[in-house]
Amino acid sequence: LNLVPIFDEDEDNKFEGVLLVLQDVTAIRRLERMRSEFVANVSHELKTPVTAVKGFAETLMGGAVNDPETARSFLQIIYDESDRLNRLIGDILELSKIESRRVPLQYSPVELSSFMEKTMELMSAEAMRKHIRLSTKADPGVYVEVDEDRLRQIMMNLLANGINYTSDGGSVSITVEPVLGPGQTLEDNYEHIRIHISDTGMGIPKKDLPRIFERFYRVDKARSRSSGGTGLGLSIVKHLVELHKGTITVDSQVGIGSTFTIELPVIQ
Ligand code: ADP
Repeated sequence: LNLVPIFDEDEDNKFEGVLLVLQDVTAIRRLERMRSEFVANVSHELKTPVTAVKGFAETLMGGAVNDPETARSFLQIIYDESDRLNRLIGDILELSKIESRRVPLQYSPVELSSFMEKTMELMSAEAMRKHIRLSTKADPGVYVEVDEDRLRQIMMNLLANGINYTSDGGSVSITVEPVLGPGQTLEDNYEHIRIHISDTGMGIPKKDLPRIFERFYRVDKARSRSSGGTGLGLSIVKHLVELHKGTITVDSQVGIGSTFTIELPVIQ
């Protein structure tokens, strides 16, 4: 609330009245709060690995270095934590670039069935390690106009999560489903495509579903951390999908599995 006195200059600055200015600052305050929460979260996330690296290095210097077995296991922890720090910094920079729209998209037509096969191939070593079966269902000849590298980044993130949150012996699949617009027939070009990424994993509790695309939100912090997660993957994915004017949704049942669905316009 602002009070502004008004004087009449023509009449020797006679006091005329008061102007009341009401400004709704809810949105500004919310943005400020979100920003400061983000900074607090980032600091906390960065501190955790740094504290571990420092602690284990100190213990090594304090004498543990003389016991080769302890030394090796501490060095492994230091290496893993530095690696996580590196990924965290990479993801924070990436998210900040995407959020401030400093990523110009390079659109080109991409044939989805071979694109999905190739992308899946990139994750096959990780899947094999956990005996997880990967499969793709996509009719050949369906094209979509996207930034190919960014779509790969989206798919890799979702596949990595699918593999990560599914126990040994499960499966992760991609299905591409072309969607006709209202009044269109099969002879017309598709208007949208839907990509489903499904897993037979642990699932996500109903109460957490609305929040999993938030930065640093994790259902199970310990599990995400121990598997090297940064808690930023789904935020990055959502932003990238929205840059393509698409949407992403999730459907999940605890103990049964999760399905992430991306819908993208075929022509940008
Ligand atoms: P993280 O690096 O922790 O995997 P993400 O942003 O990729 O971060 O995901 C956020 C959280 O959503 C994860 O910590 C996990 O709890 C949950 N999650 C994401 N994908 C899946 C999935 N396929 N199955 C079960 N939980 C998932």
